[in-house]
Amino acid sequence: MNNEHIMNTYSRFDDIFVRGNGVYLYNEQGKEYIDFIQGVAVNCLGHANQVLSNTLAEQSKKIMHISNYFWSDTQIKLAERMSSLSDHKSLFFCNSGTEAIETALKLGRKHGRMINENKYEIVYTKNSFHGRSMGALSVTGQEKYQKDFLPLIGGVVESIYNDIDSLESKINENTCAFIVEPIQGEGGVVSATKEYLQKARELCDKFDALLIFDEVQTGIGRLGTFYAYKKFGVVPDVICMAKGLGGGFPIGAVLGNEKASKVFVPGDQGNTFGGNPLACAMGNAVIGELVDNGVLKNVNDMSEYIYGKLEELKLKHNSIVELRGTGLLIGLAFDFEAKDFTKACYEKGLLLATAGPNVARLLPPLNVKKEEIDKVITIIDEVLNEK
Ligand SMILES: *Cc1c(COP(=O)(O)O)cnc(C)c1O
Repeated sequence: MNNEHIMNTYSRFDDIFVRGNGVYLYNEQGKEYIDFIQGVAVNCLGHANQVLSNTLAEQSKKIMHISNYFWSDTQIKLAERMSSLSDHKSLFFCNSGTEAIETALKLGRKHGRMINENKYEIVYTKNSFHGRSMGALSVTGQEKYQKDFLPLIGGVVESIYNDIDSLESKINENTCAFIVEPIQGEGGVVSATKEYLQKARELCDKFDALLIFDEVQTGIGRLGTFYAYKKFGVVPDVICMAKGLGGGFPIGAVLGNEKASKVFVPGDQGNTFGGNPLACAMGNAVIGELVDNGVLKNVNDMSEYIYGKLEELKLKHNSIVELRGTGLLIGLAFDFEAKDFTKACYEKGLLLATAGPNVARLLPPLNVKKEEIDKVITIIDEVLNEK
């Protein structure tokens, strides 16, 4: 199908979806799918979650939007809550992951400039994904995304992911920031090692550069802790979040520690919609479910359950080369094209994403149940049997 009124930026499946419920999605014909993409890790509580739809309805009857010339109760509450769950002092709210990254890059640049005018280099990693705006794209180490949009912003330096020697050779006194994903999501569900992130912390301390973690995909409980950095025991100066934070409603956030919180002054950064009362009410509701109502525990329980099942499948099917990921960010690496696999799953009513050429990515909602995982395992088993 081709809708000529929508720009050609995605290759899409043919279905037109009209409704969802939890892990399930339904197309116009009423065909049911199990959705293990969930808007790419966005719908952390599944589709049509009651708590979220009530929150949306109730808050919309109070205030949806006011400008950032004023305070709002829901924004203050969300900032306090996110700060109290972290080692970070203050937040900046925006509407997406890309905007969170742009904000973090600006924080890095100004932090450097406050020290001296040559301290502006931003070090990033190969195979990263940080977004598609000109700034975020400049630190996204994938030629296929960059090549038609050159020249990008200057003053950026590529390093090799998970490579300590590379970090040591790229981070120096001219570095203002190092940006890294604790687990590269789009890049193939590749996890950083603790030693690597510890080294990054050490070098950023040594040269007074900001250590920025892009937790847009790994944060909001996806790894079993609210913040991804808690899994690695390395505390960054700046954290970027988005995707799951609004449970399906657009919101992004940047957290800064004491040092990073001193960088911006009025006028340095801003946006019209960022942190509006409706988005923040959704963030508060998501945190309530994850932290107070047991969903984080479910992530850990279901993670153990699904990896157990996937290990069994791996023993049975040689085509599964490797199981990757943490919590409910799961990668299945194959010895063939992942697209062929996800297409076959789709035909059997299971929606899965890819991550690089030969990795399928499973992103269940964080409140997924055992029975739902069982159904998914059955479909994957069938597809691999037919390979
Ligand atoms: C999705 C993603 C982004 C970009 O977020 P948008 O909301 O699409 O702008 C940035 N970084 C990572 C790690 C992501 O997964």
